[in-house]
Amino acid sequence: MYQSLLSDARFYDRLLDFDRDLAEQARSAGCGECGGALHSARYWRKPRGRACCVGPEHDQRFSFCCARDGCRSRTTPASLRFLGRKVYLATVVVLVSMMQHGVTEGRLERLNESIHVDRRTVLRWLQWWRNAFTATAFWRNARAAFSPPVEQDRLPATLFERFRVEAAERLIALLRFITPITGGKAHAI
Ligand SMILES: [Zn+2]
Repeated sequence: MYQSLLSDARFYDRLLDFDRDLAEQARSAGCGECGGALHSARYWRKPRGRACCVGPEHDQRFSFCCARDGCRSRTTPASLRFLGRKVYLATVVVLVSMMQHGVTEGRLERLNESIHVDRRTVLRWLQWWRNAFTATAFWRNARAAFSPPVEQDRLPATLFERFRVEAAERLIALLRFITPITGGKAHAI
C-alpha cells in the first residue's frame, strides 16, 4: 500500500493541491514582519524518494517575498511535501522512520528496496524525531491532546497509530498534522 503510494502520481497531485491551499493562505495573510503584500518567490528543490514521474511543478517549493522596500522578508508556507530543508520528501521521512519501529505493515519493508535511504540518514531522522521534533513548541502543545500520551521514543510510528483512518488518508492526516513545523525558518537537518 505505502510502496504503491510512492509510485502513484495522483498521490503527489493531492499533496501539491494541499500545498497550493497552504500557500494561498500564507499569501493572503501577508508579511509576518510588516504586514506588507507578498510576491511569489518559488524556488527549486530536488526532492529524493519519489518513485514515479511527475511534472516539474512538483519540484517547486512555494515561497514568498515581502514587496515592501526595507523588509523583503521571505515567507515559506507549510507543506505536505517538504519537511523543512530535508532532502527527502516528507512522506519518505515519515514512512522510512516508521519502519524502524516495527510497524507491522509487511509491504513497508519493500520501501527500502525501492528508495535506498542509507542507514546513517535513517538514524539521523530517528534522532530528529526524538530530539528536534519533540522539542518544538508545536509538539509540546499538540501532544497534550493525546490520551494516553504518545510514546515519544518511537515517533513517528506511535503518532501514526493515533490517526484512525485508513492507509493513504492516514499518511495525509499525519503530514497535515506536522505542517506547522515544515515552513519558515524551522528545523533544518
Ligand atoms: Zn514585510
